[in-house]
Amino acid sequence: MITRSEYEAARQRAAEAIRRAGVVIRREEEAAIAVADFGLGRLDAEGAQILTLVDTDRISAKVIVLFGGQALPEHWHPPVGDDPGKEETLRAIRGPVYVYVPGEPTAAPDAAPSGKGRHYTARHRIVLGAGEQVTVAPGVAHWLRAGPDGAILYSFSTTARDILDRFTDPDVRRETIVVDDGPDEGTFTEE
Ligand code: ZN
Repeated sequence: MITRSEYEAARQRAAEAIRRAGVVIRREEEAAIAVADFGLGRLDAEGAQILTLVDTDRISAKVIVLFGGQALPEHWHPPVGDDPGKEETLRAIRGPVYVYVPGEPTAAPDAAPSGKGRHYTARHRIVLGAGEQVTVAPGVAHWLRAGPDGAILYSFSTTARDILDRFTDPDVRRETIVVDDGPDEGTFTEE
């Protein structure tokens, strides 16, 4: 879980980063940026800020903001009924962003967030600079991490069913729980 003020700060920081990158979004879209901590409660290390531009029964497009060093945990998009699962193209607007997929491991021992290596099993690194992209096939595990200055990318895909995504880390919860803090923040205790 994260606090309301953490959520709001991350949302505003993401909106600013998008604006600075020259991507035009409307005010109401800024307000709709979702902050995901994946239930892990350590947003700076593992999390993502996501603006859904379109999401229909057939296609989806999102802008994903990762702060410096932030990792989007390893996951894959499983088949649903007759659909083989989400096929996703990741295109960097601002890099570098490191995309990890299965394959020949890249020598980068500190690639995953500290202490979490076992939940980040894909070790072949693809480096995306601005304007570069990669397409991830349905069912293929992948995870992302921003370089030290943060990253912004597009995710273009077939229909997204985020809630059905599968994560390697069993502690991941796809819904972010936000707890109120407010004026008596000092006395707030986490349950
Ligand atoms: Zn994905």
